[in-house]
Amino acid sequence: MGGVDYPRTVQDFERWFPSEAACAAYLQRVRWPEGFQCPACGASNAWRTARGLFRCAACQRQSSPTAGTIFEGTRKPLRTWFEAMWFVTNQKSGGSALGLQRILGFGSYQTAWAWLHKLRRAMVRPGRDRLSGRVEVDETYLGGPEEDVHGRQTESKALLVVATQEEGKGIGRIRVRSVPDASADRLMPFVEDSIEPGSVVHTDGWLGYEPLQSKGYRHQITFLRGNRRSPSALLPRVHRVVSLLKRWLMSTHQGAVSHEHLDYYLDEFTFRFNHRRSQARGLLFYRLLQQAVEVAPVPYKRLVEGKPDHNI
Ligand SMILES: [Zn+2]
Repeated sequence: MGGVDYPRTVQDFERWFPSEAACAAYLQRVRWPEGFQCPACGASNAWRTARGLFRCAACQRQSSPTAGTIFEGTRKPLRTWFEAMWFVTNQKSGGSALGLQRILGFGSYQTAWAWLHKLRRAMVRPGRDRLSGRVEVDETYLGGPEEDVHGRQTESKALLVVATQEEGKGIGRIRVRSVPDASADRLMPFVEDSIEPGSVVHTDGWLGYEPLQSKGYRHQITFLRGNRRSPSALLPRVHRVVSLLKRWLMSTHQGAVSHEHLDYYLDEFTFRFNHRRSQARGLLFYRLLQQAVEVAPVPYKRLVEGKPDHNI
């Protein structure tokens, strides 16, 4: 926990965060559990200015606790962000932009939508906490017949690559990414971001997985040819995750997720799935805040640019 506690109930939440100052103080403790560290030079000595900023004793740079986080430059109170994070982490199947708009009383749907996307960016940190042990990996289409793999992403169908850690017969943690095609050039970066070298990676006989050995993985292949079982029976965990993902996209987001924003939704799904056994919803709030202060801010323009939406 890094010594930082978190609110367990909505009553805790109300009691802990009555004001902007209380939120700022908590954010500071989560960001610098060992004390202030200058984002510019790394020094730890600082003065507090009258406006609540830190002035680094070494390089004189002023920084606010929100600088360099997803909250940087926000015009809304931190308290509102905390409420948004509490809402998102306490909804069993995730919050929609419409739900968030209602809860926070935002005038605009766009604002709620942009907030959700910012928060989703904080949900998965590539290269951190990689899967290990035995991991199933396979690709699948979203919006098409699931068994038809190794193709390319099209206008109507997104191609996903999914990794699931084996936990006995069950599923441990997962990683999911959309890819334009199933070539080794697309699959290997996903594997390297998602899985610790030395792990056993279990795939079918697709050529795109051939470089796994040379990347430091132990490669276990199950060939489909001559095998009468379907791919979903050979790599059951991946396909169980995919059907849960499809159901979640349909129920929470009515399937209205565009290709260029798909990875944000995949990150939210992954975050929820990987914390599905966590009884304390407050812990999810805390994890999300912890990750939110670690990622760089995203300008709204970059969130929205891209092709027009396609439903999947
Ligand atoms: Zn400094």
